[in-house]
Amino acid sequence: MTGPTPDAPVACPTGELPRSTGVVVVGAGITGASIAHHLALRGIPVSVVEQAPEPGAGATGRSGGMVRGYDPDPAVGELAMPSLAVYRDPALWASGQAPLRAAGAITVTDPADEPALIEAADRVNHGQVPSAYVVTGREEIMGVRLDGGAALVEPDAGWVPPLEITRDWLGQAATNGASLHFGVRVLGVEGRGGRPVVRTTAGDIRAEAVVAATGLWTARPPKGMRPSSPVRSRSIQISIVRREPPAAAHATFIDLRTGVYARPVDANHSLIGMPHLVWDSPFDSACDPGHARATAQAVGIHLPWAAGAEQVSVVRAADGYGEHSGILTPTRVPRVWSVRGWNGGGVKTAPEAGRRIADTLFARAFTHGT
Ligand SMILES: Cc1cc2nc3c(=O)[nH]c(=O)nc-3n(C[C@H](O)[C@H](O)[C@H](O)COP(=O)(O)OP(=O)(O)OC[C@H]3O[C@@H](n4cnc5c(N)ncnc54)[C@H](O)[C@@H]3O)c2cc1C
Repeated sequence: MTGPTPDAPVACPTGELPRSTGVVVVGAGITGASIAHHLALRGIPVSVVEQAPEPGAGATGRSGGMVRGYDPDPAVGELAMPSLAVYRDPALWASGQAPLRAAGAITVTDPADEPALIEAADRVNHGQVPSAYVVTGREEIMGVRLDGGAALVEPDAGWVPPLEITRDWLGQAATNGASLHFGVRVLGVEGRGGRPVVRTTAGDIRAEAVVAATGLWTARPPKGMRPSSPVRSRSIQISIVRREPPAAAHATFIDLRTGVYARPVDANHSLIGMPHLVWDSPFDSACDPGHARATAQAVGIHLPWAAGAEQVSVVRAADGYGEHSGILTPTRVPRVWSVRGWNGGGVKTAPEAGRRIADTLFARAFTHGT
């Protein structure tokens, strides 16, 4: 729906659960897949347990996949910049192809924020071929109208196909020894003899450590997995609209003043979105037609053709939102951690977040024996 049909081989066996393992990763979305990949690369025995019959059944499978180096939240920007480099590097993917579609990424803000944008461009350019720059006083750039705003332009950013990435990482993890279990739900976790035991619909697994990468489901976690910093689910709704000539091609963009965003899907379609502030929204809530209409009007300020464009489909899902800026949150059970809510931006952070989480688990559960 939001990207090309994934052609990477799907690794989704549902083999028998091991009785014990190094790390249990709960959830096979993009975050869990990245963590599992990095743990397996370090030679740690890892078992991924996913309630759905296939990977990416949560926010990941419905995501827009927009990626850029800059984020107004410094904690997210710190993860997004190195993540972009991973998405750009073909050598890191089993497919042999870099997933990044470099359509360009434009972040629009109030002109008063120009000095902060210039600093951000310097950070984004640091250590790379400098390509990011700031524009003010322009009406339009890369097919996107700026509506009086200043813009940080990252020509080498754009979007990625999240499902394809998730499958690639899980495939690499399996090649490096990880066991993957689909259609198995985690019911709870408890500490026994200083180690966590994960109770699932297919039996118990004893582990050295457990990490819940359960996205919006972290809001209502299984027993023993409640993070010390709460996560709530919030609705996200996007539309796919038809882009017909003479509508020009355009870069991806987000306007931080309104939260409105868009990206190209293919030569004739674009994805458009605007914050949908419905909290505690279940994953499969019905689409909101009023919000879809309001989104098209709001995006029309930047892409004038979008206001009257045919809506091909509307996709509603949700993501986990929280205020915690660290990556991992402890739970009440020792050696059991929960991944932070990604506040609607977990694709742009997943490569570096997974790497750091794997490092943290390795240090806390396999180096000091705590
Ligand atoms: C419509 C939409 C558009 C988006 N656009 C962008 C974008 O442009 N750029 C961007 O960076 N981000 C975007 N996001 C956000 C991004 O997609 C998410 O932050 C990211 O996919 C979260 O990944 P995750 O792996 O943490 O969670 P999820 O993908 O939700 O995965 C969690 C997994 O845990 C499993 N699970 C939950 N509970 C259990 C249990 N008890 N036992 C076993 N398994 C369990 C679920 O089945 C699920 O597969 C968008 C999100 C949506 C919904």
